[in-house]
Amino acid sequence: MDKQVFSYVNELMKVLSERGDARAVVEKFLNILRSEVVFDNVAAYLQDAESGTLEIVYARALGRAKDAEADAAWGENIAAQVMAKTQLLIQEPETVSLTEDRIRQAYLLGLPLRIDGVVNGALVFVRFGGPAYTDGHIAVATLGAELLSVLFERRSWRNANSELNELKQHIQLQDDFVSTISHELRTPLGFIKGYSTSLLREDTSWDVETQKEFLTIIDEETDRLSLLIENVLESARLQSKTLPLRFQPLRLDAVIRDVSARIRSRYRELDISLDLDSSTTTQADGVRIAQVFENLFTNAVKYAPGAALIVGLKKVGNSLIVTFTDNGPGIPAESLPMIFERFYRVRSENATGTGLGLYICKQIIEAHRGKIWAESNPGQGTTFFIELPIIQGS
Ligand code: ADP
Repeated sequence: MDKQVFSYVNELMKVLSERGDARAVVEKFLNILRSEVVFDNVAAYLQDAESGTLEIVYARALGRAKDAEADAAWGENIAAQVMAKTQLLIQEPETVSLTEDRIRQAYLLGLPLRIDGVVNGALVFVRFGGPAYTDGHIAVATLGAELLSVLFERRSWRNANSELNELKQHIQLQDDFVSTISHELRTPLGFIKGYSTSLLREDTSWDVETQKEFLTIIDEETDRLSLLIENVLESARLQSKTLPLRFQPLRLDAVIRDVSARIRSRYRELDISLDLDSSTTTQADGVRIAQVFENLFTNAVKYAPGAALIVGLKKVGNSLIVTFTDNGPGIPAESLPMIFERFYRVRSENATGTGLGLYICKQIIEAHRGKIWAESNPGQGTTFFIELPIIQGS
C-alpha cells in the first residue's frame, strides 16, 4: 500500500480516538479530510432517535461562502435523499454559467452515516462553483464518512451508557427506599394486628385494665403509622421539589412565640425559655417555617426529655439565626453528620419517629436558601442552628 495513503488514514484514525469535546474532534478530523477533499461547507446530520427528524450535529463553513454557515439547511435536502436511498449521492448544477454567482452553483456530495449498520444520517459536502468531485475525492470522502460513523456510534454508546448508570442509581435509591419503608410500616402494623387479634380471642377474657393497655398501644401505633405515611409523602414531594412555597412577609420572633405557645399547651412539663433578639421581617413561607420549629420542639421533647430548652433569635449581617439549645443527652459525634439524612435515626429507643423529621426540616430550610446544622456535646446537650437570609419584600 502507498505509504502516504497509509499515514494519512492513520492520522484520521488517531484523531478519532482522541478524548474530549466531540465537536472539537469532528472539527479536527474534517480539517485533515479537507487536505484531500477540498470543500467549502460541510454538515453532518443524524436522525433523532425519539422524534425521527434529521438534526444537524455539526456544520461548518471552512472555505469560501462563510456567510452560508449559519444556514446549514443547504444540505438538508440531499441528506434526506441519502437517508431514503441509503447510498452516496452527487448533485451538480445542470448548466454551468461563468457569469452567475458561484454561490448559486452548488456541487453537493452526500454520504450515508451508519450507526449499528443502519443508515441514520448523512455527511454532506458542498463546493460552490465546482470543481466536480473526482473518483479520488469520493473515495476519501467515503472513508471519512465511515470513520465519522464510528465516532458517532461510540458517542451514542457512551450516552446510552451514562443514561443506564443514572437509571441504575435511581433504581438503587428506590429499592433502598422501598425496603426501609416496608420495614417501618411493618413494625406498627405488627403491633396493631397482634394486639387486636389478642383482644378478639374468644378463649381468653381480658380485664378492663389490660384491654385499655392494648387499646392504647393500638391507638399509639396507628398514630405512628399515619405520621409515617404523612412524612413519607411529604419527603417525596420535597424530593421531587413539588412542594410549593408561599413566600410572605414574616417575623420569625412571632412564629417562634406562636409555635412555642402551642407546644407549651401540649407538653406542659417542657421548660422553654425564649431569647428573641430581632423583630426583622423577611420573606418566607410561614407554614413551612412553623413546621420546622415544631419539629425541633418535639425532637427536644422526645430526645431530651426533662431538659430545659432555650430558643434564640438574632440578626447577624444579612441573616437571621435561630438556635434551639437543650441540655439533654446530646448526639454521638459519629451520628451528627447523618441526622439530616432520610430515615436516619440515632437510637432504637421507644420514642416514635421515622428519621424523616430533620430531613424534611433541611429540605424546607434549603428551599429558603438557608442552612441548618447541629452541634452537640454528648452528655451536655445539643444546639440546632438555622440560618435564613433576610429577603426584602418586593
Ligand atoms: P425522627 O423522626 O426519628 O425523630 P429526626 O430526623 O427528627 O427523626 O431525627 C433524627 C435523629 O436525631 C433522631 O433519631 C434522634 O436520635 C436525633 N435527635 C434529634 N433531635 C435531637 C435532640 N434534641 N437531642 C438528641 N438527639 C436528637
